[in-house]
Amino acid sequence: MSTANPSLSGKVAIVTGAASGIGEQIARTLAEAGARVVIADMNLTGAQRVADDIGGRGGKGGQAMAVAMDVTDERAVDDGFGNIEAAFGPVDIVINNAGVQIVSPIDQFSLGDWKKILAIHLDGAFLVTRAALRQMYRKDADGQARGGTVIFMGSVHSHEASPLKSAYVTAKHGLLGLSRTLAKEGAAHGVRSHVVCPGFVRTALVEKQIPEQARSLGISEEEVVKNVMLRGTVDGEFTTTEDVAETVRFLAAFPSAALTGQVITVSHGWNMH
Ligand code: NAD
Repeated sequence: MSTANPSLSGKVAIVTGAASGIGEQIARTLAEAGARVVIADMNLTGAQRVADDIGGRGGKGGQAMAVAMDVTDERAVDDGFGNIEAAFGPVDIVINNAGVQIVSPIDQFSLGDWKKILAIHLDGAFLVTRAALRQMYRKDADGQARGGTVIFMGSVHSHEASPLKSAYVTAKHGLLGLSRTLAKEGAAHGVRSHVVCPGFVRTALVEKQIPEQARSLGISEEEVVKNVMLRGTVDGEFTTTEDVAETVRFLAAFPSAALTGQVITVSHGWNMH
């Protein structure tokens, strides 16, 4: 099967948490590949800014719409997918990217913060995926399911652990199970599933952690970057949002189930699984 043409023309893609950081870049990259892109985020102002920019000159004139969606809210997710279908048609590509980080030692981790992390990363990915599958599994006149690709934003922390990140590491490991189960269940319906696992990417989520980790570990911010975040990489470099978005674009455009249930790590060699 040829993979020479990566065009996503005619496809509808939803990216959660796309008002900033990695999700924003993924939305821009999928739009440049020809997809109509839904910017879904609980921050509607930010989502609208990204959608307007993609639709305007900043995004080279792609088609994009913003949707207010808290991925932990079942009703908001299901209603959001209804609105997306009415505007753009049923979805073909889902990027489960919305996420937050809270760092604390386990003995001081509050149950509320624990539940918040698991709710956004795991409940959110489940709810968004379930709503998408109801559109992807639908059969056309020939009895053929529409199919699609679902990608989960994992992390090097889907494979490794770091101190202070118990809930996040637990959630990111959990996504591997959801994705692999979907790869098996979805195959009969033409649905493929993957996890993309970035190393440290310098987004708002990471900027926030640098002073927090410096305080918790009793070291300087420079030491957090050099000795904690980038120590395990082969070259001491941050992964970029573009690196992650290009990987997502490749997986979203791949035309067969030769690639499904895969976990791809984009981390400057920090993790090689
Ligand atoms: P970011 O903080 O820049 O963006 C996260 C976005 O998610 C924000 O726009 C936020 O409004 C949105 N969001 C948060 N909770 C939400 C909810 N309940 N419903 C809908 N939207 C919500 O973060 P980022 O660094 O771009 O992270 C994106 C994803 O990449 C996350 O899943 C994160 O765990 C993962 N990741 C990040 C890194 C990194 O180093 N930055 C590394 C590996 C994995």
